[in-house]
Amino acid sequence: MRIIEHIAEMRQWSEAARSEERRVVLVPTMGFLHEGHLHLVRDGKKRGDRLVVSIFVNRAQFAPGEDFAGYPRDFDRDRRLLENEGVDVLFHPPVEEIYPEGSQTYVTVEELSIFLCGAQRPNHFRGVATIVTKLFNIVRPEVAIFGEKDYQQLQIVRRLVRDLNFAVEIVAHPTVRERDGLAMSSRNAYLSGDERQAALCLSQALKRAECLVKKGVLDGARIIAAARSEIEAQPLAKVEYVRLCDPVTLDDLEEIRNSALLALAVRIGKARLIDNTVLKR
Ligand code: AMP
Repeated sequence: MRIIEHIAEMRQWSEAARSEERRVVLVPTMGFLHEGHLHLVRDGKKRGDRLVVSIFVNRAQFAPGEDFAGYPRDFDRDRRLLENEGVDVLFHPPVEEIYPEGSQTYVTVEELSIFLCGAQRPNHFRGVATIVTKLFNIVRPEVAIFGEKDYQQLQIVRRLVRDLNFAVEIVAHPTVRERDGLAMSSRNAYLSGDERQAALCLSQALKRAECLVKKGVLDGARIIAAARSEIEAQPLAKVEYVRLCDPVTLDDLEEIRNSALLALAVRIGKARLIDNTVLKR
């Protein structure tokens, strides 16, 4: 596996791969890899001939006071994991190359960034859209893989690709979970033993909503109340939002017509956890 730190070298490598008609796949990450990331990597191996995984903790998507400085990092472990998966390139650029001094250009996907996490984390999705645009311009992949766990991010990336005419196919990978249902996340590392147990309330809330829909309940308020009460029954958990919305536009829905996204954000101790499911009638 080649480790590339500089943009110019990444561009050269990618250009060479394309001139040999290789299909380049990109999996962007912020590192501290877990099995969820590795599922995306394995999916990436199957979808092309050359696989690039990027690791960049993107300061632009963290607000002041958020966990940028303390975000978990373990580059050596990540490198070993990616080597074992047969990744071709680990792209790990320094911050000064991605955001050179004087940088003042950002990409905003306007409406989709307002809802859900965007309401609580102003500028978060501007940071995401900007780094994804930069990575697409540098690596120029034919395919890029994103997890459904960050559902709003995925929709924003899809819209970005459409609106800015990027020639990249976006592949969505289903959320990878621990055996007991907790969605894998680098931020699960923040949870103490009790908090880890409490964190199960997110996936349980989603399951409860799925059961209600199976029984024919389509009323948004009832579904939200049921999911909320599952989380609120857990004293260590603090609901940030529970929303039912259109899976494409992310507008709030009062009832499920065809399908609806149920999205949660919950604080448990130091961790802010998100999860979601698409409910189908
Ligand atoms: P991150 O390192 O958290 O920025 O995540 C990098 C990519 O991995 C994003 O596309 C995430 O949506 C995806 N990802 C993170 N956790 C999971 C998971 N549990 N299941 C599926 N994809 C995930």
